[in-house]
Amino acid sequence: LPGQMMHQPLLISNLLVHADRHYGDTEIVSRRVEGDIHRYTYRDCHRRARTLANALAALGAGQGDRIATLAWNGYRHLELYYAVSGSGAVLHTVNPRLFAEQVAYIVNHAEDLLLFFDLSFLPLVEAIAPQCPTVKAFIALCGREHFPAETTIANLLCYEELLAAHSDAFAWPQFDENTASGLCYTSGTTGNPKGALYSHRSTVLHAYASTMPDALGLSSRDVILPVVPMFHVNAWGLPYSAPLTGAKLVFPGPATDGKSLHELFESERVTLSAGVPTVWLGLLGYLQQNAKKLATLNRAVIGGSACPPAMMETFRKQHAVEVVHAWGMTELSPLGTACRLQAKHLDLAPDEQAAILEKQGHALSGVDIRIVDDEGQEVAWDGKTPGNLMARGPWVISGYYKGEGGDALQDGWFPTGDVATIDSDGYLQITDRSKDVIKSGGEWIGSIDLENIAMQHPDVEQAACIGVHHPKWDERPLLVVVKKPDAAATREDLLAFYDGKIAKWWRPDDVVFVDALPIGATGKVMKNVLRTQFRDYSLQ
Ligand code: ADP
Repeated sequence: LPGQMMHQPLLISNLLVHADRHYGDTEIVSRRVEGDIHRYTYRDCHRRARTLANALAALGAGQGDRIATLAWNGYRHLELYYAVSGSGAVLHTVNPRLFAEQVAYIVNHAEDLLLFFDLSFLPLVEAIAPQCPTVKAFIALCGREHFPAETTIANLLCYEELLAAHSDAFAWPQFDENTASGLCYTSGTTGNPKGALYSHRSTVLHAYASTMPDALGLSSRDVILPVVPMFHVNAWGLPYSAPLTGAKLVFPGPATDGKSLHELFESERVTLSAGVPTVWLGLLGYLQQNAKKLATLNRAVIGGSACPPAMMETFRKQHAVEVVHAWGMTELSPLGTACRLQAKHLDLAPDEQAAILEKQGHALSGVDIRIVDDEGQEVAWDGKTPGNLMARGPWVISGYYKGEGGDALQDGWFPTGDVATIDSDGYLQITDRSKDVIKSGGEWIGSIDLENIAMQHPDVEQAACIGVHHPKWDERPLLVVVKKPDAAATREDLLAFYDGKIAKWWRPDDVVFVDALPIGATGKVMKNVLRTQFRDYSLQ
């Protein structure tokens, strides 16, 4: 028996239409590549997105065409988010931190028709342009006054001139909600990058679920500053969920150092921000060295890699900022879980609450998770037994773009490549990526636990733990540490620091001090690089 409700497709354009109609004068503030601060409103953004949609049509971009961006978080990038997907084309956000060859590979694999870029990436675009024959035009995201006087790019256009040539009269087309809307490539630490092709339906449902109180808990009273880049899994969906809720948006542009972020947090009265742990190191260091406070920030969403408990504690105790620990991945649009307390936890002591909040939390309503052993049998939710984490749901990929990598699913579930425990209350805790797990004498040692303990040591700035070859145990943990400036801790101090905190056989066998850890294009420590670097390391 068919239901009798209207069939209104879930389309991305509706998110901006809603923001214009109901929160039209709410601001979008951007620090621009040009250096200044730009401000306008959702109404202005919608008007320019419609104008851009006309410009895209004039450039020949039609339904399903892939339109690439190489851009920071900013208002012009947001206009592209809505104009491209809203027109029925596919927004392909490319990570400019990748090597030029990888960027060219991705653009060619996606067969992008147009490429929009921030001026910071002009040299990168000049390098790849001759290798990207599908791209009919490159568009610099600037006005004529900043347009490059000399360039080797043959077909280079100016964004503001393009907009000036078109009208804002544009009606967003209505089409099937399962139409592709966006394309993001995984960073491809093993093999070539693979594309996750999102749909309007998956993107809108992800936006709804992520705003819920036990997820990010967004509202029109929030001022949101996404530090997580719009070129990496759509800034965790914030460019969609902010207009959905009518929250003010603040974009940091290229300036994500502690000082620049702090300035924007304070001047724009930011209440919620989101980013990977490495960006918060910079901010927290700046706040500490300059005795600065965060006056309005009350939530920091941290994910992308495990948030060290020591970082949560600093946020909580020194800045009264609640950390929302979240887990996700490109293949999940990206949000899979977020950690919030339940009613029964509210009377617990702060330390007991903190122990819960260190986990990656509950599946967002709509996502289904489970953990299985190597035979595919489900593992108990006892908070202790690790298993391979599987996910399914309406914003989880069913396969990679162009079928790359073959069948992406196992029994209808997406294998995440992460190893996790789930407790009887359904709280997920990631213990490792399966390729980072340390296998000692046939048993698994979770590197994240070892890193979290090291990060609690007052002299440790950053820590990574990897397995290195051991003649008897196959692999043993090696702790690689970046010390805080002028810190005196020795190898012995750090090893002793593990006493009583963890089973003896989990304790790292050795510690090496380095000046910096290798950080990849998405702000995460590249353990594969560390493993290569320490391949022949002989443990003492
Ligand atoms: P890549 O890092 O390959 O570009 P993603 O950005 O999609 O891919 O990263 C997804 C991976 O990041 C997850 O599979 C998981 O290993 C890791 N990750 C994400 N969030 C967390 C978290 N809160 N704790 C631990 N690991 C996390």
